[in-house]
Amino acid sequence: MDAPEPDTALPANSPEPGAGRYAPSPSGDLHLGNLRTAVLAWLFARSTGRRFLLRMEDLDRVRPGAAERQLADLRAIGLDWDGEVIRQSARLPHYRAAVARLTAAGRTYECFCTRREIQQAATAPHAPQGAYPGTCRALTPDQRAEFLAAGRPAAIRLRAEVAEFEIADELHGRYRGAVDDVVLLRGDGVPAYNLAVVLDDAAQGIDQVVRGDDLLSSAPRQAYLATLLGFPVPRYAHVPLVLNAAGQRLAKRDGAVTLADRRALGDSAERVFALLAGSLGLAGRTPAAVLARFDPARLPRDPWTLDPNRLSPAKECP
Ligand code: GLU
Repeated sequence: MDAPEPDTALPANSPEPGAGRYAPSPSGDLHLGNLRTAVLAWLFARSTGRRFLLRMEDLDRVRPGAAERQLADLRAIGLDWDGEVIRQSARLPHYRAAVARLTAAGRTYECFCTRREIQQAATAPHAPQGAYPGTCRALTPDQRAEFLAAGRPAAIRLRAEVAEFEIADELHGRYRGAVDDVVLLRGDGVPAYNLAVVLDDAAQGIDQVVRGDDLLSSAPRQAYLATLLGFPVPRYAHVPLVLNAAGQRLAKRDGAVTLADRRALGDSAERVFALLAGSLGLAGRTPAAVLARFDPARLPRDPWTLDPNRLSPAKECP
């Protein structure tokens, strides 16, 4: 493919120093698991001399006021970031332009499958786990016309030419994972997460992606897509999640898990930071206080299990 068009919507970032980022979806308040990942992303970036950028992934599931509250909570626990917060909703033309470029290069196809059809096909014997089985890859013009005439919405998928791709991860080492024909534009015309994340990371000069390890299996397809678009692949650190007492991923229904909840119980933002830092083996009340002692090699590799109902509220740290 041709070299990528320069992305003019963002200030030109010089390649040095690189940048890390935190990219929440503003679907509600951040909980202790989200805040802990944000702290880790900040520590990874700042301890390596990188800029730290914030991006609101607001293409989907937006709750009014959530983005502002998320930023206020991140600030309250002591995190800072560089430059303006980027919002994906302001970048729609860039996502569409990238899809147009991939389409012009023959790297996409229309997919008319419903979620149900994909689920059924994916559970067929020999289908790769969770991957799109490629049903619409080779539609005939007649089949395509039939779907269009029936008013079926078309998603745009990547025509992937590899089945696997390898990434480098600070905590997981070399990780090889499946690449399938990911959705680039959803049937409702909204750019898909896997496309937006790749374009934004490249446009923002991000060379270090720190996020929850639930996204580890998405990294190979994102790295492949970045390569296809001519972008450098960032270095990854997929960090362990926070689990509830039952061993499931922490959620708001698990109790007093947001900063607002903790404050209502008498905790300060400093105390919440200290709790998160303590779970990472770092004692201190502010990000700046623990930065010098941060060492990725000494990070806990297991999830942090937390029962928010058993946290002692307002307990002073030593
Ligand atoms: N917006 C995603 C989330 O909140 C994170 C995506 C990423 O860090 O790549 O789960």
